[in-house]
Amino acid sequence: MAKRLVILGGSESGIGAALLGQKEGYDVFVSDSSPLKEKYREELVAAGIRYEEGSHSIAKILEADEVMKSPGIPEKADLVKKIRQKGIPVISEIELAYRHKGNSKIIGITGSNGKTTTTALIYHICRHGGLDCALVGNIGYSFARQVALDPKALYVAELSSFQLDDIHGFRPEIAVLTNITEDHLDRYEYKFENYIRSKFRIAMNQTADDFFIYCQDDPVTKEYLNRFSIYSNLLPFSMQEELNKGAFIKDDKVTIKTGNEPISMSIYDFALPGKHNQYNTLAAGIATATLGLRKEKIKEAIASFESLEHRMEYVTTVKGVDFINDSKATNINSTWYALENMSKPTVLILGGVDKGNDYSLIEELVEQKVTAIVCMGLENAKIHEAFDKKVAHVADASSAKEAVQLAFSLAEKDGVVLLSPACASFDLFKNYEDRGKQFKDAVMEL
Ligand code: ADP
Repeated sequence: MAKRLVILGGSESGIGAALLGQKEGYDVFVSDSSPLKEKYREELVAAGIRYEEGSHSIAKILEADEVMKSPGIPEKADLVKKIRQKGIPVISEIELAYRHKGNSKIIGITGSNGKTTTTALIYHICRHGGLDCALVGNIGYSFARQVALDPKALYVAELSSFQLDDIHGFRPEIAVLTNITEDHLDRYEYKFENYIRSKFRIAMNQTADDFFIYCQDDPVTKEYLNRFSIYSNLLPFSMQEELNKGAFIKDDKVTIKTGNEPISMSIYDFALPGKHNQYNTLAAGIATATLGLRKEKIKEAIASFESLEHRMEYVTTVKGVDFINDSKATNINSTWYALENMSKPTVLILGGVDKGNDYSLIEELVEQKVTAIVCMGLENAKIHEAFDKKVAHVADASSAKEAVQLAFSLAEKDGVVLLSPACASFDLFKNYEDRGKQFKDAVMEL
């Protein structure tokens, strides 16, 4: 009898898993407590896959041989507790995709910040180097959908900690951990250590043939590295130390050493701006160098990669004031790097849904560079508490339009308005893309 696979959550990863499960001969049932998006419903109908939406049929779900849980569903949900109590194995979508990927290779990228940028850059370099590969995860298709519909020899996969939580055999040949800072603590019982553990799972099934790429300058990664058994080849990157293997920057020059031909290039040839992107570029350079791509190809690709929307994206200049959209900055560390990169007096638009921010981490940079703060969220008390006594103006706005107008009125001539909220967006917006888009629209209306 076919294995009964229940899929919880009917969005991109759930539908991808359903299509793959069906193709691989599982008896698939999709269950979502909310209504499905039209396009996903149509796909299930067209494929003849059974589903329910708007509520969960608990008895039916508990008959599963295996459950695939979408990354958005928390462990503390009642239904998940019941599934665990009954001892039904729970997997994530990337585990299912891994199981059916055949001989293809995986480059997996995780971390608190820089995942999407690093993933997109690695993909860009691989494509430029002529490899048959696909970009999967947050941008574009889910991993499972790609394996089901358009398999490739190499997958470049962005992995959240939630997806890593329910892996069992998943093993990327190349694993990248960009950095670890506090994020999503609401999903990890407010224990930083649980979140760290979940990030390191990316390396747990790696073998001596594989590579683990990590940031030597990141204190959390460094501290925890030795507490886990990692059997793959360690390839660190750093801006503070010269390293024998991995990659480092010294006197504005990058050196990448992975055992293949060493690569050197100037940081002024990087297309992506900012110190954080130098880290992302080091990680991407190492990952692609281990694949044995020609060094000219890697260098050309690093020099030609355009930045992504909503990440330190320059919008326009109005009457001497620059506007920058960094809506993707949903935690304090991202905002730290955004501020670090500012060279003009800055009006900072902050706020949204706070996931446990410690604003003292950006206090020094705020004092140096920020002339005014506009709080853009439903609940702004924490920001006022942190900055009212430190910044001359701290104002409140309840829409992107209001925030942009206020920020513009507070900006110095030749200054900059930076949207880098350090918070999630779903109090006032659908998601960070919507927030960034409304910001840009409001700027264009000035
Ligand atoms: P993620 O996919 O992990 O959320 P992104 O590449 O989308 O990461 O970048 C998210 C935000 O984090 C952006 O605002 C960017 O400016 C900032 N950022 C990118 N890379 C890093 C890094 N290595 N360290 C700290 N912040 C970063």
